[in-house]
Amino acid sequence: MTTWAEQLRRSTSGTVYSRSETREAPGMDLYARPHATPAAILAARGISDVQAAIRVAREYQVPLSLRGGGHSAAAFAAADGGLMLDLSGLRDVRVDPLRRRARAGAGATWGDYDTATQRHGLASTGGIVSSTGVAGLTLGGGIGALRGLHGLAVDNLRAADVVLPDGSVTRADADHEPDLFWALRGGGGNFGVVTGLEFAIHPATEVTTGLLAWPLEQAQTVTAGYRARADELPDHTVADLVFGHDDHGEPAILIIPRVIGDAATAAPFIEHLRASAPPIDDTIATRAYTASQNFLDTAARWRQRVYWNTTTLHHLDENLVDILTAYVRSAPSLDSKINIEHFHGAVSRIDPASTAVGFRHAAYNVFVEAKWDDPGADADNRAWASELIQTLAPYSAGGAYVNYLPRDADQERIRAAYGPRTYERLRAIKTMYDPDNLLRANQNIPPER
Ligand SMILES: Cc1cc2nc3c(=O)[nH]c(=O)nc-3n(C[C@H](O)[C@H](O)[C@H](O)COP(=O)(O)OP(=O)(O)OC[C@H]3O[C@@H](n4cnc5c(N)ncnc54)[C@H](O)[C@@H]3O)c2cc1C
Repeated sequence: MTTWAEQLRRSTSGTVYSRSETREAPGMDLYARPHATPAAILAARGISDVQAAIRVAREYQVPLSLRGGGHSAAAFAAADGGLMLDLSGLRDVRVDPLRRRARAGAGATWGDYDTATQRHGLASTGGIVSSTGVAGLTLGGGIGALRGLHGLAVDNLRAADVVLPDGSVTRADADHEPDLFWALRGGGGNFGVVTGLEFAIHPATEVTTGLLAWPLEQAQTVTAGYRARADELPDHTVADLVFGHDDHGEPAILIIPRVIGDAATAAPFIEHLRASAPPIDDTIATRAYTASQNFLDTAARWRQRVYWNTTTLHHLDENLVDILTAYVRSAPSLDSKINIEHFHGAVSRIDPASTAVGFRHAAYNVFVEAKWDDPGADADNRAWASELIQTLAPYSAGGAYVNYLPRDADQERIRAAYGPRTYERLRAIKTMYDPDNLLRANQNIPPER
């Protein structure tokens, strides 16, 4: 074991896994196949372990990475030769139904969060796969089923407990450390190790949702029907499109509507979609909120080769539908998909300056999800996803969701994702809180020198 890992073992109550043990460490169970092997992993049990990891990383100049839910497709959780601070043990969720607040620990997943809040019939905007981490998703922005009613996950965040890169502990909210609180709402893991997140929670108990699928040849008809309603959808309804393949490997277009409410509430929109062309697959049903948040879990295979890329769009016209269908047909892997998330309602109404996210002005968020198994096909799959984003560049609405950016996104890309004003403000706050860039295994905003 390295000197610093021994030092860590002596100074923490958490479990320290050395390089030879990291393979077996629970923290290495990551959504994306790891790009690197950390030299050691500290499975934290509490705030003093977080402080010990920061101390050792500083003293021994060890690269530090943070693991919450382990869902980063860019696999930022595993810093090569460095120390992975595994926060997944800190997954307590406490709910105060009278104050309409919930507090999640740094390692809680959306499954943990939804289960706890649903005991009181309450929820807040969160990920639509139950194993995704609350912390990583929220710090980047957080797109979910409740976005039309309650905005992004960051719009529901009311406070965060943070261990700063100098080891001190603080709580950021609207009144205390307001700059830090603003930066945490979109600026990702750049500013500190978040140990707890407090959210506003709202009534939501059932969701009418599922998949509607059509053969890809019908993409123009289906998207025309979708477009006819998309801009006037009520806040309780959101709907995403998927260009990809069905369960039989046939090219397909899918719509995933999510209506917060019963079948009658959902009927006008769902019947309109069904009428645009008869779907070949239709799993729409009214589900309990927690069930609506995990029915896509089986599609999220772990430790696969993945490469994500992203852009935004003002509209989704026939020309763009032609481009997307052509890319589905040329995809090197049948597992790969192009997801289109639509924004309207609260997510679009909230003042863009109130948080650090740089994409809420767009009508559509494009999220290209390349997934494959063959190690020999890495270059082809990455090129497919990147070329699509280049092809869409002339149509981009600007900005991007940092949680969907690829690992190889350079500073120009990250700056463009936030927009210049937001990026410069984030950079000034980074310089204040993390002048040595201790937290750099992320979509990094480097401090000013
Ligand atoms: C199957 C799947 C479904 C998804 N669904 C959605 C979705 O519905 N909506 C959506 O918006 N996004 C979604 N995402 C994307 C998701 O927001 C990002 O992958 C996010 O990084 C996941 O957070 P995590 O904590 O699970 O990841 P991790 O890999 O554990 O962490 C990723 C990064 O987040 C930062 N971070 C994590 N924890 C902390 C902390 N405690 N303090 C400071 N920084 C921290 C660090 O920079 C870390 O490297 C999905 C991803 C996957 C794989």
